[in-house]
Amino acid sequence: MTYRSILGLVVVFCLLAAVPARAEVSVSCPDTVSPGQPFLVRVSAPEGLAAVRLQWRDRTVEPPVRPAPGASSGDTKTAPATRADVLLGLGLDEKPGTLSLRVRATTAAGARVAVLRTLRVVPKQYPEERLTVKKGFVHLDEKALARHNKEKAMVHEAMEHLDAAPQWSCPFVRPVPGKVLSVFGMRRVFNGEPRSPHSGVDFRGAVGTSVHAAAAGRVLVADDLYFAGNCVYIDHGQGVVTVYAHLSRIDVRPGQEVAAGQVLGKVGATGRVTGPHLHFGAFVYGELVDPEVLLNPDCAAR
Ligand SMILES: [Zn+2]
Repeated sequence: MTYRSILGLVVVFCLLAAVPARAEVSVSCPDTVSPGQPFLVRVSAPEGLAAVRLQWRDRTVEPPVRPAPGASSGDTKTAPATRADVLLGLGLDEKPGTLSLRVRATTAAGARVAVLRTLRVVPKQYPEERLTVKKGFVHLDEKALARHNKEKAMVHEAMEHLDAAPQWSCPFVRPVPGKVLSVFGMRRVFNGEPRSPHSGVDFRGAVGTSVHAAAAGRVLVADDLYFAGNCVYIDHGQGVVTVYAHLSRIDVRPGQEVAAGQVLGKVGATGRVTGPHLHFGAFVYGELVDPEVLLNPDCAAR
């Protein structure tokens, strides 16, 4: 057999191996997304995945492959159903257009599958909110500004060292039972002056109500900050960070590992507030996204 014919056979074999495998790997993600919205990408294969790699903008994510809920590992003839989840999200300043998501997966049988998905960015109008707070929270004096800048740098530094291994799962745990007072993305006017849009969701809560971790993770920040008051940041791995602000008390310390639902502190009215509530925020790969979406099944927007 000549080298060429062997090469030809190898090519045919690879094509045959790849064609049926295409149907075995599915990539679920929304077709349209709005600025400020997180979304779940789920790669699954009924007969098992060996490895998954996602290419999203300038980022490559290699999520761990896990058994799908209800998958039985008792059958030795076929690999159990497995899947890999990745949370992605768009910042509030994202412009309308189309974005590409490339997925490469290797099945348990060794077939390599490439899937290209296109997501359309559709605009979303967020409501406006007018608030009155103490003057020092709108026009910072020199001392407050220096403090705020120092804290901003500290949080930024903490956010630079995130864990690659995910500890979250959808849906996230609701941190307090209270109803929503102010949604994410509200265009905010403080004492008549426009400021940054609302970076999280505000939940009603009386002072002293327990605040629970939305997922397992490691405490990044547990500190008294100028705007956020007593505040906790948790790294849930694979780019996901949640924030709990205005607490009356903090019950965790930086570096501590926490379980999903663990009490982090109590609701309060510290920092820039008009009254007691929990401000809950979420970052996905550095983009502030609507944390309420994470509380829905499969982290799907409604
Ligand atoms: Zn808030």
